[in-house]
Amino acid sequence: IAIAPSSISSILDESLRLVDSLLAKKGITVVKELCADMPLVPVDSDKIEQVFLNIIINAVHAMGEEGTLFFASRREGGMCLVSITDTGPGIDPEVLPRIFDPFFTTKEPGKGTGLGLAVCKSIIEQHGGRIEVVSEKGNGARFIISLPIRETEK
Ligand code: ADP
Ligand code: MG
Repeated sequence: IAIAPSSISSILDESLRLVDSLLAKKGITVVKELCADMPLVPVDSDKIEQVFLNIIINAVHAMGEEGTLFFASRREGGMCLVSITDTGPGIDPEVLPRIFDPFFTTKEPGKGTGLGLAVCKSIIEQHGGRIEVVSEKGNGARFIISLPIRETEK
């Protein structure tokens, strides 16, 4: 992976640009509450863009027509935290522990590979970070990514 100091909000904007027409077509509103003084974070921007895209596309799929995608970032200790929250149906408690497993999908055959979140997890862990999910059935899903602001030894 090609690590360089990067603006997380620029990567997020680029991811959103790629799904702009999809979001418009689905009637999904985007709300951003981004940390204004986030330093550059040492990441592979293409890989992080892929992570954001996977999470956004899952959220769009879950929400169907209409909904809100909420993006927030903040610094916490030495970490850059990014959360992506949707207003979809949420995730069943029995499904929740398995969503990062390779090939785990609740989608119809042919509709999902079940690899999206496994790839996200692997990318974030390659950066020395973590990805977590918080969800209650009926109450949307929130994915929280944390990335070290200072380069870590791998
Ligand atoms: P796929 O999208 O191919 O099913 P993923 O690894 O991207 O594979 O996601 C795995 C599963 O996690 C999905 O099938 C779905 O059950 C669940 N999931 C992921 N994101 C969301 C979300 N925002 N809302 C509800 N369920 C989700
Ligand atoms: Mg997916």
